[in-house]
Amino acid sequence: MSKIRVLADHVANQIAAGEVVERPASVAKELVENSIDAGARRISIEIEAGGRRLLKVSDDGEGMVRDDAILAFERHATSKIRETDDLNAIGTLGFRGEALASIASVAKVELTTCIEAASAATRVTIDGGRMRDVKDAAHPRGTTIVVRDLFFNIPARRKFLRSEATETYHLTNLVTHYALAHPEISFTFVNNGREVVRAAPAKDLRERAYQIFGEEFLKNLLEVDGGEPQFAHVTGFVSAPRDRRTSRDSQYLFVNRRFVRDRMIGRALSEAYRSILPYGVYPAALLFIETPLEEVDVNVHPAKTEVRFRRQAAVADAVRESVRAALASASYVPPPEQPQVPEPVMTATAAVSSITPQPRIEFVPPPAMEPSGDEIARDIESMLRSASTYQPAPPVQAVVPPLDSAEKLAREVTPESLSTNIRPLGQLEESFIIATDDDGLLLIDQHVAHERILFDKYRALESERRSDSQQLLVPETFDLTPAQAAVFDDLVPELEKYGFELMRLSGRTVAIRSVPADLPGSEARNMLAELLDTVDAEKKSTPRETLRDEIAASLACHAAIKVNMPLAPEKMRWLIDRLLQTSSPTTCPHGRPVILRLRTRDILKGFHRI
Ligand code: ADP
Ligand code: MG
Repeated sequence: MSKIRVLADHVANQIAAGEVVERPASVAKELVENSIDAGARRISIEIEAGGRRLLKVSDDGEGMVRDDAILAFERHATSKIRETDDLNAIGTLGFRGEALASIASVAKVELTTCIEAASAATRVTIDGGRMRDVKDAAHPRGTTIVVRDLFFNIPARRKFLRSEATETYHLTNLVTHYALAHPEISFTFVNNGREVVRAAPAKDLRERAYQIFGEEFLKNLLEVDGGEPQFAHVTGFVSAPRDRRTSRDSQYLFVNRRFVRDRMIGRALSEAYRSILPYGVYPAALLFIETPLEEVDVNVHPAKTEVRFRRQAAVADAVRESVRAALASASYVPPPEQPQVPEPVMTATAAVSSITPQPRIEFVPPPAMEPSGDEIARDIESMLRSASTYQPAPPVQAVVPPLDSAEKLAREVTPESLSTNIRPLGQLEESFIIATDDDGLLLIDQHVAHERILFDKYRALESERRSDSQQLLVPETFDLTPAQAAVFDDLVPELEKYGFELMRLSGRTVAIRSVPADLPGSEARNMLAELLDTVDAEKKSTPRETLRDEIAASLACHAAIKVNMPLAPEKMRWLIDRLLQTSSPTTCPHGRPVILRLRTRDILKGFHRI
């Protein structure tokens, strides 16, 4: 007896639904896309119990005639494409003709629809893929779909749904996305009877973003407009580097107004922020990529949130360069056409050598992490070996301020407000330079200021053959962890460009024979270990450019003047002058602020003089 049979339609639909309908938000996505494709000017979304109990989408689009309303629930039934060739240029959000069939197979669905000037609307009722009823109804032009009891017939899937709060979060996010991509359409979103979003038709993205996120969010955004219309025109907004997020949640990416998740675009965006934002910290972004339809394949996944570009690299370049240009126009990074000129830089060792007394050794462990016994031993060992101070770099996450902590008296200085007329007055806690400029009192973090100077120097040197290096009298040896060993060989050629000379002895033991001229010998081991750990965590696919930035940043951090170090007035002057010549004087390579300002105005207010 033969054993193969063709599955019944409702079984096939349920299987297909596995890919299209993951959760309530994916149902809403398909329905909202259908409304947009139908030319709606007004879309309303209503949910109850995180969309499981009820999910209703109404539009004023073109609607359907009765035959179409019935046919719409068949698998592969679509009005949007006809031929295979149509797949090469898809101008609608939908095209697979399987969303309604899939949704109807796993829920109780009621669709009411009416075209312009019809005598009556049609209502189609389908439960778990079985057509129950088709009859006349009342409905203005447009379509309303009510989806009840999602996964009522598939308990296994229902179990995978998360809490009401989580599902609602995803739904809200989805509505936000589509509202941003279509400012001209009015959106309302009602959750358990309460209106959460009401966005009237807006004239452009800025106005829509204002409706949704409010004024505070918009204030710090930089406008992006770049790329080439022939393959990728990039527009939208990105945040200033001082706005930091610890996830990519605030990045909204669209390709031809289709919301997508795309690693390549995400990475290109991060690369644009290289040297002003550290790893693990992300900018906020609303980025729209417009490409000719034939340049992009949207038929990659049933949920259509992934796309494939014909010219991947060109699109990545366009994104990176456009965002970079936006950052440059606000002076966060140097303008693209002017390459950085290497400048004479006094080394950390030289900068402090004339200072007496020698700084006291002070060991401050980073607050957020417990150093392991090994690490402490290693640190103490290296401190004993040299008289220089060692302070582990504070973990970046711990210094990222919450976004709304802006209302402080002393504020981060923005590049626009930076004048060249800075006069140092003295030091606070032997760590911060106190200075004045035309707007008030400045506090400059001496360590991060020097870090920025050195970083720019190393990045400029990288193009030259080899930078200055100093040979160690006794080579330092150290053992790599297996993970470090895996990336070590990859890193060596890059490190050598900066003046390291490294040798692999036996197994995982490595000897450091020379180090960059600025780097105190005692810092070399720590710096290497730290760097190898970062590179490992970031996987080997890190682009070269980013890797070099990482090395330069790490080198700068370890070679820079430390906190708790007295500086003579001429050293402060030198530091400020050099800082002002760097590519980004207000942000260190790890994304921390370099200068805080207490405005004269605020001082006057404090003394009740105004
Ligand atoms: P697709 O969107 O891929 O074509 P769907 O299953 O989502 O497939 O929808 C099937 C068809 O039903 C669409 O091609 C469209 O003609 C029609 N349709 C669905 N929703 C609407 C709507 N809100 N307004 C008008 N027509 C719709
Ligand atoms: Mg569709």
